[in-house]
Amino acid sequence: AREIRLASRPEGFPTPENFELVEVPLPDIADGGLLVRNQVMSVDPYMRGRMNAGKSYVEPFEVGHALDGGAVGEVVASKAPGFEVGDTVLHGLGWREYAAVDAAHATKVDPRAAPIGAYLGVLGMPGMTAYAGLLEVAAFKEGDVVFVSGAAGAVGQVAGQVARLRGAGRVIGSAGSDAKVKYLVEELGFDAAFNYKDGPVGELLAQAAPDGIDVYFDNVGGDHLEAAIDSFNLYGRAALCGAISNYNTTTPTGPRNVGLAVGKRLTLRGFLVHDHKHLQADFVREVGGWIASGELRYQETVTEGLDRAPEAFIGMLRGENLGKALVTL
Ligand code: NDP
Repeated sequence: AREIRLASRPEGFPTPENFELVEVPLPDIADGGLLVRNQVMSVDPYMRGRMNAGKSYVEPFEVGHALDGGAVGEVVASKAPGFEVGDTVLHGLGWREYAAVDAAHATKVDPRAAPIGAYLGVLGMPGMTAYAGLLEVAAFKEGDVVFVSGAAGAVGQVAGQVARLRGAGRVIGSAGSDAKVKYLVEELGFDAAFNYKDGPVGELLAQAAPDGIDVYFDNVGGDHLEAAIDSFNLYGRAALCGAISNYNTTTPTGPRNVGLAVGKRLTLRGFLVHDHKHLQADFVREVGGWIASGELRYQETVTEGLDRAPEAFIGMLRGENLGKALVTL
């Protein structure tokens, strides 16, 4: 069996040399454990933070050890009651072909109800992040004008559509290519979208939202957040989900106009999806229903082969993915 280890810590953008593909024996499983053959794994932006030394909100990856992260696979051996060979499970030991998983940290999923990759994307952690961030953290209400950055990614594509389906006044998205902008407007029903590489974000947002914005779903940080603060109406609310524009740089940028938060009575609220588990059932019911009815659409960008997982991860950080970035094994 093969796994991918952290070979060295990146400075700035990761490179293939930061990863190492290693042949290892099949892991043993203890009582209460499962041996899982992974079929699909997730590459996510937060993994970039874990490649640095020092604790963020998750433990760092260790040099010389396998990386980990969301994965779905088939149980091939079980020493845990309630799990049988052939079950499909969602768990946290990706970046390897075979995982010895503690059954307490595995969730059975139904491969007939949805394609297994959806449990890592639209129906999984990123979809839930969009749902909780918009509805609870940003306290979205009908009629709000909503701006979503990173809008063609895993979280963003769901956030914008939940806003539309819940009765937003207008939904505006930003993304890093013309093809993504087209996808947002033509496929996902955004009212307006722009390519943030076309000019200063503040100007592009002001053109797309001439009457201002009420909610900002922030996946990007930096100049995007600064632009949103300028465009905010009174009592505007930002869900600070991530700041990917600063993940791969040694010279981070921040909003210089955060002082406007006072006069505009803004709420800028950071959040982690794990704190919103009470919304899980509502999320699956509502978003699952919209997927089934065709009202909510989504894309995945799938790379084949564990050996190409580093490439898929780096590509995602560079914006090569449309929708959720996944790796099949
Ligand atoms: P995506 O699928 O959106 O992939 C990352 C995207 O980021 C790329 O496709 C790229 O798209 C964009 N990007 C990269 N560099 C920049 C840049 N300099 N400026 C603007 N955009 C950039 O990832 P996710 O949907 O999984 O994650 C989106 C955000 O949500 C991240 O910030 C992540 O950390 C955060 N997150 C937070 C969670 C929480 O609990 N708070 C949980 C899950 C995710 P483009 O072509 O448009 O540039």
